[in-house]
Amino acid sequence: MGDTSVLTERENDVPDVGELTPPDRTLMGPGPSDVHPRVLKAMSTPLVGHLDPSFVEIMNEVQELLRYTFRTDNQWTIPVSGTGSASMEAAVGNLVEPGDTMLVPTNGYFGGRMKSMAERAGGEVVEIDAPWGEPLDPVDVERAFDEHQPDVFGFVHAETSTGVLQPNVPELTDIAHDHDAFVIADSVTSLGGVELRVDEWDIDVAYSGPQKCLSCPPGASPLTLNDRAMDKVLDRDEQPRSWYLDLSLLEGYWGEDRAYHHTAPITNVYALREALRLVAEEGIEARWARHREVAGDLKAGLQELGLEMNAPDEYWLPSLNAVRVPDGIDDGAVIDHLLAEYDLEIASGLGDLEGDIWRIGCMGYSARPKNVEYVLAALEDALAEQGF
Ligand SMILES: *Cc1c(COP(=O)(O)O)cnc(C)c1O
Repeated sequence: MGDTSVLTERENDVPDVGELTPPDRTLMGPGPSDVHPRVLKAMSTPLVGHLDPSFVEIMNEVQELLRYTFRTDNQWTIPVSGTGSASMEAAVGNLVEPGDTMLVPTNGYFGGRMKSMAERAGGEVVEIDAPWGEPLDPVDVERAFDEHQPDVFGFVHAETSTGVLQPNVPELTDIAHDHDAFVIADSVTSLGGVELRVDEWDIDVAYSGPQKCLSCPPGASPLTLNDRAMDKVLDRDEQPRSWYLDLSLLEGYWGEDRAYHHTAPITNVYALREALRLVAEEGIEARWARHREVAGDLKAGLQELGLEMNAPDEYWLPSLNAVRVPDGIDDGAVIDHLLAEYDLEIASGLGDLEGDIWRIGCMGYSARPKNVEYVLAALEDALAEQGF
């Protein structure tokens, strides 16, 4: 009866886990950002079924608010269940068919992720080279189109790994459309934080995440596709490789039918609804302006401390401030000091910029003057610890 004794041992082995008491951090890293109290409150409201008539109404409202925030009239505008990478994979995995060629950038971490996803979708990947910390040059994009004739072009509007905002978006989408390609924009760190106009800029597909400039916990991630892109998706010869993220199936739930596909993360949809309601109350343009203003104060304060921004002003990204680590300073020790002494989160550099920069987010509810003062005072102290 060996099994019984094992069971007995397991039964006696009750995990001794106390009440949940997470630390009260100030989140000024690359995401998640601080969640607005109203969003947390929305998350503690009662659960309803994912097909409840009241939830169907909530779904419509979320879609309407997402269209407002993306600046689009696209019918195909939904929150994808999962984090930003899920909406990213939904975009890439549905648009890219086996044998298609996708053009992706090399100027940051997330272009690399696009590449992996396009390859897994059965696509051929070609790259536009640009150094980490710089935007794409339209001349290089044009050249890459002439050389490779890609079917899909992906770019990162706000590169969270480098603090670079891609300028000239309409110029890039024009080049792509002149070559009959589809444009996928990563707007994870731009939606609700910096100017983004999906329709006016002629972006075919844009995906985002809730935990950056929308200040909502991760879990339901914005995605929008225009009719042209959705026609390609619905016209595929082969099904997408992911069942969960197959937009032709998700259409059954988020489209007219409202039929079961998978159980929506209901609480996350509530959260997103409240986060987007906050966007609408503030006004999207006022919100972009607030991010520029508050992050502008942060940038000025950092420069007053004697620090240097990684990106020049022409493509500075207000929602993610990349700051050079001065010579002789241990970047990790500063990050640890801020967390231990100030309950304050900022992040280190990634990839090619590892050890060279700190990344200070200024997103959504975290983009407040109070937070800027706090991060500047804490940084001054942490740098002084190291004799700066
Ligand atoms: C955060 C981020 C993602 C991925 O989002 P997750 O929520 O971490 O899955 C993709 N692209 C960019 C630019 C991001 O900043």
